[in-house]
Amino acid sequence: MRQPLMVFTLLGSTLIVVASAQSPSPVDYQVLAKIREEGLVRSQVMDHIGTLSDVYGARLTGSPAMRHASDWAMKKFTEWGLTNVRREEWSFGKGWSLVRFSAHLTEPSVQPLIGYPKAWSAGTAGSVTGEVVRVDIDSEDDFARYTGKLAGRMVLLQPSRPLPMLEGPVVLRMSDADVREAERMPVPPVASPRPDTAAFRKKLADFLLAEKALAVLDRGSDDVMVAGGSELSWKTQRVDGGTIFVGVGGTRDEGAGRNVPSAVIAVEQYNRLVRLVERGVRTTVQIDIETRFHKEVEPNGFNTFAELQGTDPRGEVVFLGAHLDSTHAAAGATDNATGSGAVMEALRILVAAGVKPRRTIRAALWGGEEQGLLGSRAYVKAHLADPEGMQPKAGNDKLALYLNSDNGTGRVRGVWLQGNLGAAPLFERWFAPLRDLGVTVLGSRSVTSTDHHRVRRWRRSRASATARISGVTIASTRT
Ligand SMILES: [Zn+2]
Repeated sequence: MRQPLMVFTLLGSTLIVVASAQSPSPVDYQVLAKIREEGLVRSQVMDHIGTLSDVYGARLTGSPAMRHASDWAMKKFTEWGLTNVRREEWSFGKGWSLVRFSAHLTEPSVQPLIGYPKAWSAGTAGSVTGEVVRVDIDSEDDFARYTGKLAGRMVLLQPSRPLPMLEGPVVLRMSDADVREAERMPVPPVASPRPDTAAFRKKLADFLLAEKALAVLDRGSDDVMVAGGSELSWKTQRVDGGTIFVGVGGTRDEGAGRNVPSAVIAVEQYNRLVRLVERGVRTTVQIDIETRFHKEVEPNGFNTFAELQGTDPRGEVVFLGAHLDSTHAAAGATDNATGSGAVMEALRILVAAGVKPRRTIRAALWGGEEQGLLGSRAYVKAHLADPEGMQPKAGNDKLALYLNSDNGTGRVRGVWLQGNLGAAPLFERWFAPLRDLGVTVLGSRSVTSTDHHRVRRWRRSRASATARISGVTIASTRT
Protein backbone atom coordinates (compact mmCIF):
# COMPACT_ATOMS: atom_id res chain seq x y z
CA MET A 1 0.00 0.00 0.00
CA ARG A 2 1.32 3.38 -0.84
CA GLN A 3 0.48 6.64 0.75
CA PRO A 4 0.73 9.36 -1.88
CA LEU A 5 0.58 12.86 -0.59
CA MET A 6 -0.83 15.80 -2.38
CA VAL A 7 -0.57 19.52 -1.84
CA PHE A 8 -3.09 22.11 -2.90
CA THR A 9 -2.54 25.78 -2.60
CA LEU A 10 -5.62 27.78 -2.32
CA LEU A 11 -6.69 31.11 -1.00
CA GLY A 12 -3.17 31.79 0.12
CA SER A 13 -3.05 28.72 2.26
CA THR A 14 -1.69 25.28 1.76
CA LEU A 15 -3.45 22.10 2.62
CA ILE A 16 -2.03 18.65 2.61
CA VAL A 17 -4.06 15.52 2.47
CA VAL A 18 -2.77 12.06 3.13
CA ALA A 19 -4.74 9.43 1.28
CA SER A 20 -4.18 5.90 0.15
CA ALA A 21 -4.02 4.90 -3.48
CA GLN A 22 -4.51 1.17 -3.64
CA SER A 23 -5.68 -0.42 -0.40
CA PRO A 24 -7.79 2.46 0.80
CA SER A 25 -7.07 3.52 4.32
CA PRO A 26 -8.98 6.21 6.11
CA VAL A 27 -7.86 9.78 5.83
CA ASP A 28 -6.21 10.85 9.08
CA TYR A 29 -8.65 13.58 9.98
CA GLN A 30 -6.75 14.54 13.11
CA VAL A 31 -3.68 15.36 11.06
CA LEU A 32 -5.83 16.99 8.43
CA ALA A 33 -7.47 19.20 11.05
CA LYS A 34 -4.08 20.34 12.34
CA ILE A 35 -2.90 21.11 8.82
CA ARG A 36 -6.06 23.03 8.01
CA GLU A 37 -5.85 25.05 11.17
CA GLU A 38 -2.21 25.94 10.67
CA GLY A 39 -2.82 26.83 7.02
CA LEU A 40 -6.08 28.70 7.41
CA VAL A 41 -5.60 30.38 10.79
CA ARG A 42 -1.87 31.00 11.05
CA SER A 43 -0.84 31.20 7.42
CA GLN A 44 2.46 32.92 6.65
CA VAL A 45 2.24 32.43 2.92
CA MET A 46 1.50 36.07 2.09
CA ASP A 47 4.56 37.07 4.10
CA HIS A 48 6.70 34.66 2.05
CA ILE A 49 5.26 36.02 -1.21
CA GLY A 50 5.65 39.62 -0.06
CA THR A 51 9.28 39.04 0.90
CA LEU A 52 10.06 37.53 -2.48
CA SER A 53 8.19 39.99 -4.66
CA ASP A 54 8.28 43.25 -2.68
CA VAL A 55 11.62 42.98 -0.91
CA TYR A 56 13.77 41.07 -3.42
CA GLY A 57 11.69 42.01 -6.46
CA ALA A 58 12.71 40.74 -9.87
CA ARG A 59 14.71 37.53 -9.43
CA LEU A 60 16.42 37.09 -12.76
CA THR A 61 18.62 34.01 -12.72
CA GLY A 62 22.24 35.08 -12.34
CA SER A 63 21.34 38.36 -10.63
CA PRO A 64 22.24 39.26 -7.04
CA ALA A 65 18.52 39.43 -6.16
CA MET A 66 18.03 35.78 -7.10
CA ARG A 67 20.90 34.72 -4.85
CA HIS A 68 19.64 36.89 -1.98
CA ALA A 69 16.14 35.41 -2.32
CA SER A 70 17.65 31.92 -2.19
CA ASP A 71 19.70 32.87 0.88
CA TRP A 72 16.52 34.07 2.57
CA ALA A 73 14.60 30.91 1.67
CA MET A 74 17.43 28.76 3.05
CA LYS A 75 17.42 30.79 6.27
CA LYS A 76 13.67 30.23 6.67
CA PHE A 77 13.98 26.50 5.90
CA THR A 78 16.72 26.21 8.52
CA GLU A 79 14.72 28.17 11.09
CA TRP A 80 11.79 25.79 10.57
CA GLY A 81 14.02 22.82 11.34
CA LEU A 82 14.17 21.30 7.88
CA THR A 83 17.18 19.26 6.78
CA ASN A 84 19.45 19.05 3.73
CA VAL A 85 18.95 22.77 3.15
CA ARG A 86 21.28 23.40 0.25
CA ARG A 87 21.90 24.72 -3.23
CA GLU A 88 22.88 22.62 -6.20
CA GLU A 89 24.64 24.65 -8.85
CA TRP A 90 24.83 24.46 -12.61
CA SER A 91 26.50 26.63 -15.18
CA PHE A 92 24.35 29.48 -16.44
CA GLY A 93 26.59 32.10 -17.99
CA LYS A 94 26.87 35.76 -17.17
CA GLY A 95 24.26 37.26 -14.91
CA TRP A 96 22.76 40.69 -15.45
CA SER A 97 21.13 43.35 -13.32
CA LEU A 98 19.76 46.81 -13.85
CA VAL A 99 21.18 49.79 -12.00
CA ARG A 100 19.31 52.70 -13.58
CA PHE A 101 16.96 53.55 -16.40
CA SER A 102 15.32 56.75 -17.54
CA ALA A 103 14.02 57.88 -20.88
CA HIS A 104 12.39 61.06 -22.18
CA LEU A 105 11.08 62.31 -25.43
CA THR A 106 13.00 65.58 -25.74
CA GLU A 107 11.86 66.91 -29.15
CA PRO A 108 9.42 68.09 -30.43
CA SER A 109 8.12 68.27 -26.84
CA VAL A 110 9.05 66.71 -23.54
CA GLN A 111 7.43 63.52 -22.30
CA PRO A 112 8.78 61.04 -19.76
CA LEU A 113 8.72 57.62 -21.36
CA ILE A 114 7.56 54.45 -19.65
CA GLY A 115 10.03 51.73 -20.46
CA TYR A 116 12.37 49.02 -19.30
CA PRO A 117 15.72 47.85 -20.66
CA LYS A 118 15.84 44.41 -22.16
CA ALA A 119 17.64 41.80 -20.07
CA TRP A 120 21.35 41.50 -20.85
CA SER A 121 21.24 44.89 -22.60
CA ALA A 122 24.44 46.88 -22.50
CA GLY A 123 24.33 50.27 -20.82
CA THR A 124 24.58 53.64 -22.49
CA ALA A 125 27.53 55.97 -21.93
CA GLY A 126 25.63 57.91 -19.31
CA SER A 127 22.71 60.05 -20.43
CA VAL A 128 22.67 60.15 -24.22
CA THR A 129 20.39 61.92 -26.68
CA GLY A 130 19.81 60.99 -30.28
CA GLU A 131 17.43 61.53 -33.15
CA VAL A 132 14.85 58.84 -33.62
CA VAL A 133 14.82 56.88 -36.86
CA ARG A 134 12.42 54.18 -37.94
CA VAL A 135 13.95 51.26 -39.83
CA ASP A 136 12.31 48.40 -41.67
CA ILE A 137 14.68 45.45 -41.60
CA ASP A 138 13.15 42.04 -42.26
CA SER A 139 16.14 40.27 -43.76
CA GLU A 140 19.86 40.69 -44.41
CA ASP A 141 18.99 42.17 -47.81
CA ASP A 142 17.71 45.26 -45.98
CA PHE A 143 20.99 46.03 -44.22
CA ALA A 144 22.48 47.87 -47.21
CA ARG A 145 19.70 50.50 -47.17
CA TYR A 146 20.73 51.61 -43.69
CA THR A 147 24.49 51.28 -43.84
CA GLY A 148 26.11 54.50 -42.67
CA LYS A 149 22.79 56.02 -41.55
CA LEU A 150 22.32 54.81 -37.97
CA ALA A 151 25.32 56.16 -36.06
CA GLY A 152 24.18 58.11 -33.00
CA ARG A 153 20.52 57.38 -33.72
CA MET A 154 17.72 55.92 -31.60
CA VAL A 155 16.48 53.09 -33.77
CA LEU A 156 12.82 52.06 -33.85
CA LEU A 157 12.64 48.48 -35.12
CA GLN A 158 8.90 47.86 -35.21
CA PRO A 159 5.93 49.53 -36.87
CA SER A 160 3.34 51.12 -34.61
CA ARG A 161 0.62 48.94 -33.21
CA PRO A 162 -2.93 50.26 -33.41
CA LEU A 163 -4.65 49.98 -30.07
CA PRO A 164 -8.40 49.57 -30.13
CA MET A 165 -10.09 50.52 -26.89
CA LEU A 166 -9.87 47.59 -24.50
CA GLU A 167 -13.25 46.21 -23.64
CA GLY A 168 -13.75 43.66 -20.92
CA PRO A 169 -11.13 42.58 -18.42
CA VAL A 170 -7.43 42.77 -19.27
CA VAL A 171 -6.75 39.58 -17.37
CA LEU A 172 -8.91 36.62 -18.24
CA ARG A 173 -9.68 33.90 -15.73
CA MET A 174 -11.76 30.92 -16.76
CA SER A 175 -15.30 31.13 -15.45
CA ASP A 176 -16.72 28.12 -13.61
CA ALA A 177 -18.63 27.30 -16.80
CA ASP A 178 -15.38 27.49 -18.83
CA VAL A 179 -13.70 25.14 -16.40
CA ARG A 180 -16.58 22.67 -16.61
CA GLU A 181 -16.46 22.79 -20.39
CA ALA A 182 -12.71 22.32 -20.35
CA GLU A 183 -13.15 19.14 -18.31
CA ARG A 184 -14.60 17.47 -21.40
CA MET A 185 -11.95 18.70 -23.82
CA PRO A 186 -9.35 16.40 -25.30
CA VAL A 187 -5.67 16.77 -24.55
CA PRO A 188 -4.55 19.64 -26.80
CA PRO A 189 -1.56 19.46 -29.07
CA VAL A 190 1.30 21.78 -28.27
CA ALA A 191 1.30 24.90 -30.43
CA SER A 192 3.54 24.59 -33.44
CA PRO A 193 6.82 26.37 -32.82
CA ARG A 194 7.58 29.66 -34.43
CA PRO A 195 10.20 29.73 -37.20
CA ASP A 196 13.59 30.03 -35.55
CA THR A 197 14.80 33.56 -36.20
CA ALA A 198 17.74 33.48 -33.77
CA ALA A 199 20.39 33.51 -36.50
CA PHE A 200 18.90 36.56 -38.22
CA ARG A 201 18.39 38.39 -34.92
CA LYS A 202 22.07 37.86 -34.13
CA LYS A 203 23.07 39.29 -37.50
CA LEU A 204 20.78 42.27 -36.99
CA ALA A 205 22.24 42.91 -33.52
CA ASP A 206 25.77 42.77 -34.95
CA PHE A 207 24.78 45.13 -37.79
CA LEU A 208 23.33 47.71 -35.39
CA LEU A 209 26.45 47.50 -33.22
CA ALA A 210 28.75 47.91 -36.21
CA GLU A 211 26.69 50.89 -37.37
CA LYS A 212 27.10 52.48 -33.91
CA ALA A 213 23.39 52.98 -33.29
CA LEU A 214 22.90 54.76 -29.95
CA ALA A 215 20.04 52.57 -28.70
CA VAL A 216 17.27 50.34 -30.00
CA LEU A 217 13.70 50.90 -28.90
CA ASP A 218 10.69 48.68 -29.52
CA ARG A 219 7.26 48.12 -28.08
CA GLY A 220 7.58 44.43 -27.19
CA SER A 221 6.05 41.42 -28.85
CA ASP A 222 2.46 41.15 -30.00
CA ASP A 223 1.88 37.49 -29.43
CA VAL A 224 1.53 35.12 -26.55
CA MET A 225 0.91 31.37 -26.44
CA VAL A 226 -2.45 30.69 -24.89
CA ALA A 227 -4.73 27.78 -24.14
CA GLY A 228 -7.92 28.53 -26.00
CA GLY A 229 -10.67 26.02 -26.65
CA SER A 230 -9.14 22.60 -27.11
CA GLU A 231 -5.77 23.71 -28.36
CA LEU A 232 -2.78 25.83 -27.58
CA SER A 233 -2.12 28.54 -30.09
CA TRP A 234 -0.50 31.92 -30.61
CA LYS A 235 -2.79 34.83 -29.93
CA THR A 236 -2.34 38.56 -30.05
CA GLN A 237 -1.49 39.82 -26.61
CA ARG A 238 -4.12 42.16 -25.19
CA VAL A 239 -2.48 45.36 -24.09
CA ASP A 240 -3.40 48.84 -23.03
CA GLY A 241 -1.33 51.84 -24.05
CA GLY A 242 0.94 51.73 -21.05
CA THR A 243 1.75 48.03 -21.13
CA ILE A 244 5.29 46.82 -21.66
CA PHE A 245 6.37 43.24 -22.26
CA VAL A 246 10.13 43.17 -22.04
CA GLY A 247 12.25 40.42 -23.50
CA VAL A 248 15.94 39.72 -23.74
CA GLY A 249 18.40 42.02 -25.50
CA GLY A 250 21.70 40.17 -25.28
CA THR A 251 23.48 36.92 -24.59
CA ARG A 252 24.90 35.32 -21.43
CA ASP A 253 27.99 33.98 -23.14
CA GLU A 254 31.42 35.54 -23.52
CA GLY A 255 29.91 38.10 -25.88
CA ALA A 256 27.62 39.35 -23.11
CA GLY A 257 27.45 43.15 -23.07
CA ARG A 258 28.60 43.64 -26.65
CA ASN A 259 25.30 44.91 -28.00
CA VAL A 260 23.51 48.16 -28.66
CA PRO A 261 21.57 49.16 -25.52
CA SER A 262 17.93 48.23 -25.96
CA ALA A 263 14.70 49.03 -24.18
CA VAL A 264 11.01 48.43 -24.58
CA ILE A 265 8.79 51.51 -24.51
CA ALA A 266 5.08 51.50 -23.60
CA VAL A 267 3.04 50.75 -26.70
CA GLU A 268 1.22 54.03 -27.14
CA GLN A 269 4.34 56.09 -26.43
CA TYR A 270 6.20 54.00 -29.01
CA ASN A 271 3.35 54.60 -31.44
CA ARG A 272 3.76 58.34 -30.89
CA LEU A 273 7.47 58.13 -31.77
CA VAL A 274 6.64 56.31 -35.00
CA ARG A 275 3.91 58.81 -35.91
CA LEU A 276 6.26 61.74 -35.32
CA VAL A 277 8.96 60.24 -37.53
CA GLU A 278 6.42 59.44 -40.26
CA ARG A 279 5.29 63.10 -40.16
CA GLY A 280 8.85 64.14 -40.83
CA VAL A 281 9.11 65.97 -37.49
CA ARG A 282 12.56 65.98 -35.90
CA THR A 283 12.22 63.69 -32.88
CA THR A 284 14.84 63.13 -30.23
CA VAL A 285 14.97 60.87 -27.21
CA GLN A 286 17.24 61.08 -24.18
CA ILE A 287 17.99 57.79 -22.52
CA ASP A 288 20.16 56.60 -19.62
CA ILE A 289 20.70 52.88 -19.07
CA GLU A 290 23.15 51.52 -16.53
CA THR A 291 23.44 47.77 -16.28
CA ARG A 292 25.78 45.34 -14.60
CA PHE A 293 27.08 41.98 -15.78
CA HIS A 294 27.98 39.32 -13.24
CA LYS A 295 30.76 36.91 -14.10
CA GLU A 296 30.27 33.28 -13.28
CA VAL A 297 32.77 33.22 -10.42
CA GLU A 298 30.68 30.49 -8.82
CA PRO A 299 27.92 29.03 -10.97
CA ASN A 300 25.22 31.62 -11.53
CA GLY A 301 22.64 28.87 -11.92
CA PHE A 302 21.34 27.03 -8.86
CA ASN A 303 18.36 25.26 -7.37
CA THR A 304 17.50 25.59 -3.68
CA PHE A 305 16.41 22.55 -1.68
CA ALA A 306 15.10 21.60 1.75
CA GLU A 307 13.68 18.38 3.17
CA LEU A 308 11.37 17.12 5.86
CA GLN A 309 12.76 13.68 6.63
CA GLY A 310 10.38 10.76 6.34
CA THR A 311 10.30 7.63 8.46
CA ASP A 312 10.16 5.15 5.58
CA PRO A 313 13.41 3.15 5.44
CA ARG A 314 12.99 2.80 1.67
CA GLY A 315 13.78 6.49 1.39
CA GLU A 316 11.01 7.37 -1.01
CA VAL A 317 10.48 11.02 -1.78
CA VAL A 318 7.53 13.26 -2.42
CA PHE A 319 8.78 16.27 -4.27
CA LEU A 320 7.33 19.77 -4.31
CA GLY A 321 8.67 22.30 -6.79
CA ALA A 322 8.22 25.86 -8.00
CA HIS A 323 10.57 28.23 -9.73
CA LEU A 324 12.10 30.94 -7.59
CA ASP A 325 13.41 32.94 -10.51
CA SER A 326 11.41 35.49 -12.45
CA THR A 327 11.86 37.63 -15.50
CA HIS A 328 13.72 40.88 -14.92
CA ALA A 329 11.10 43.54 -15.49
CA ALA A 330 8.55 42.81 -12.79
CA ALA A 331 8.51 41.67 -9.19
CA GLY A 332 7.60 38.11 -10.15
CA ALA A 333 4.66 37.99 -7.76
CA THR A 334 2.38 35.64 -9.67
CA ASP A 335 5.18 34.09 -11.69
CA ASN A 336 6.24 32.64 -9.43
CA ALA A 337 6.48 33.98 -5.88
CA THR A 338 3.02 32.50 -5.37
CA GLY A 339 4.25 29.02 -6.21
CA SER A 340 7.50 29.38 -4.28
CA GLY A 341 5.65 30.80 -1.29
CA ALA A 342 3.15 27.94 -1.39
CA VAL A 343 5.89 25.31 -1.49
CA MET A 344 7.69 26.96 1.43
CA GLU A 345 4.45 27.30 3.36
CA ALA A 346 3.59 23.64 2.79
CA LEU A 347 6.80 22.62 4.56
CA ARG A 348 6.33 25.16 7.32
CA ILE A 349 2.80 23.91 7.98
CA LEU A 350 3.89 20.29 8.11
CA VAL A 351 6.56 21.11 10.68
CA ALA A 352 4.24 23.36 12.70
CA ALA A 353 1.51 20.70 12.68
CA GLY A 354 3.98 18.10 13.93
CA VAL A 355 3.39 15.82 10.94
CA LYS A 356 5.75 12.84 10.71
CA PRO A 357 5.48 11.81 7.07
CA ARG A 358 6.39 8.34 5.94
CA ARG A 359 8.12 9.58 2.81
CA THR A 360 10.68 12.35 2.80
CA ILE A 361 9.18 15.56 1.50
CA ARG A 362 11.67 17.48 -0.62
CA ALA A 363 11.15 21.02 -1.81
CA ALA A 364 12.90 22.53 -4.80
CA LEU A 365 12.91 26.21 -5.63
CA TRP A 366 14.14 26.05 -9.21
CA GLY A 367 16.31 28.57 -11.01
CA GLY A 368 16.55 29.30 -14.71
CA GLU A 369 12.95 28.36 -15.45
CA GLU A 370 12.46 31.50 -17.50
CA GLN A 371 15.46 30.71 -19.71
CA GLY A 372 14.21 27.23 -20.63
CA LEU A 373 13.55 25.15 -17.49
CA LEU A 374 17.29 25.05 -16.90
CA GLY A 375 17.20 24.21 -13.19
CA SER A 376 14.79 21.30 -13.47
CA ARG A 377 16.72 20.03 -16.52
CA ALA A 378 19.92 20.08 -14.49
CA TYR A 379 18.24 18.21 -11.64
CA VAL A 380 16.81 15.55 -13.93
CA LYS A 381 20.21 15.06 -15.55
CA ALA A 382 22.03 14.87 -12.22
CA HIS A 383 19.61 12.70 -10.26
CA LEU A 384 17.00 11.00 -12.42
CA ALA A 385 18.24 10.23 -15.93
CA ASP A 386 20.66 11.80 -18.38
CA PRO A 387 18.65 12.81 -21.45
CA GLU A 388 21.42 11.11 -23.47
CA GLY A 389 20.27 7.52 -23.28
CA MET A 390 17.73 8.09 -20.50
CA GLN A 391 19.26 5.47 -18.23
CA PRO A 392 17.65 5.84 -14.81
CA LYS A 393 19.86 7.03 -11.97
CA ALA A 394 19.72 6.27 -8.27
CA GLY A 395 17.10 8.90 -7.49
CA ASN A 396 14.75 7.49 -10.07
CA ASP A 397 13.09 4.76 -8.05
CA LYS A 398 12.83 6.86 -4.92
CA LEU A 399 10.62 9.52 -6.44
CA ALA A 400 7.00 8.77 -5.67
CA LEU A 401 5.33 11.99 -6.67
CA TYR A 402 6.24 15.40 -8.07
CA LEU A 403 3.99 18.39 -7.51
CA ASN A 404 4.71 21.62 -9.38
CA SER A 405 3.25 25.03 -8.73
CA ASP A 406 3.37 27.59 -11.54
CA ASN A 407 1.13 28.58 -14.48
CA GLY A 408 -0.31 31.70 -12.95
CA THR A 409 -2.25 32.18 -9.80
CA GLY A 410 -5.72 32.16 -8.34
CA ARG A 411 -7.88 29.94 -6.24
CA VAL A 412 -7.31 26.25 -6.82
CA ARG A 413 -10.31 24.59 -8.41
CA GLY A 414 -9.08 21.22 -9.52
CA VAL A 415 -6.63 19.26 -11.60
CA TRP A 416 -5.75 18.76 -15.24
CA LEU A 417 -4.74 15.13 -15.60
CA GLN A 418 -2.39 15.42 -18.59
CA GLY A 419 -4.42 12.73 -20.28
CA ASN A 420 -3.76 10.24 -17.48
CA LEU A 421 -7.32 9.27 -16.72
CA GLY A 422 -6.09 6.34 -14.64
CA ALA A 423 -5.09 8.80 -11.93
CA ALA A 424 -8.56 10.31 -11.71
CA PRO A 425 -9.87 8.03 -8.92
CA LEU A 426 -6.88 8.91 -6.78
CA PHE A 427 -7.45 12.60 -7.21
CA GLU A 428 -11.15 12.17 -6.50
CA ARG A 429 -10.30 10.62 -3.15
CA TRP A 430 -7.90 13.43 -2.37
CA PHE A 431 -10.47 16.04 -3.31
CA ALA A 432 -13.12 14.71 -0.94
CA PRO A 433 -11.94 16.55 2.20
CA LEU A 434 -11.30 19.72 0.17
CA ARG A 435 -14.68 20.18 -1.47
CA ASP A 436 -15.73 22.79 1.05
CA LEU A 437 -12.78 24.83 -0.19
CA GLY A 438 -13.95 24.63 -3.79
CA VAL A 439 -11.58 21.96 -5.11
CA THR A 440 -13.79 19.91 -7.42
CA VAL A 441 -12.55 19.90 -11.02
CA LEU A 442 -10.86 16.97 -12.75
CA GLY A 443 -10.05 17.42 -16.44
CA SER A 444 -7.98 15.42 -18.85
CA ARG A 445 -6.10 18.30 -20.44
CA SER A 446 -2.38 19.00 -20.45
CA VAL A 447 -0.37 22.01 -19.53
CA THR A 448 3.29 22.50 -20.33
CA SER A 449 5.89 25.25 -20.17
CA THR A 450 7.06 24.82 -16.63
CA ASP A 451 9.28 22.57 -14.58
CA HIS A 452 6.96 19.59 -14.11
CA HIS A 453 7.29 19.01 -17.84
CA ARG A 454 10.99 18.22 -17.42
CA VAL A 455 10.28 15.71 -14.69
CA ARG A 456 7.40 14.18 -16.57
CA ARG A 457 9.26 13.62 -19.81
CA TRP A 458 11.70 11.17 -18.36
CA ARG A 459 9.00 9.32 -16.45
CA ARG A 460 6.56 9.06 -19.29
CA SER A 461 6.62 5.30 -19.23
CA ARG A 462 5.31 5.26 -15.70
CA ALA A 463 1.86 6.14 -14.56
CA SER A 464 1.88 9.87 -14.24
CA ALA A 465 -0.51 12.72 -14.07
CA THR A 466 0.36 16.32 -14.38
CA ALA A 467 -2.25 18.68 -13.31
CA ARG A 468 -2.93 22.33 -13.55
CA ILE A 469 -5.20 23.60 -10.88
CA SER A 470 -5.94 27.04 -12.16
CA GLY A 471 -2.72 28.42 -10.87
CA VAL A 472 -0.99 25.34 -9.60
CA THR A 473 0.43 22.56 -11.69
CA ILE A 474 0.65 19.16 -10.16
CA ALA A 475 2.44 16.17 -11.48
CA SER A 476 1.42 12.97 -9.80
CA THR A 477 3.34 9.80 -10.42
CA ARG A 478 3.05 6.18 -9.34
CA THR A 479 -0.35 5.82 -7.87
ZN1 LIG B 1 6.36 30.43 -14.22
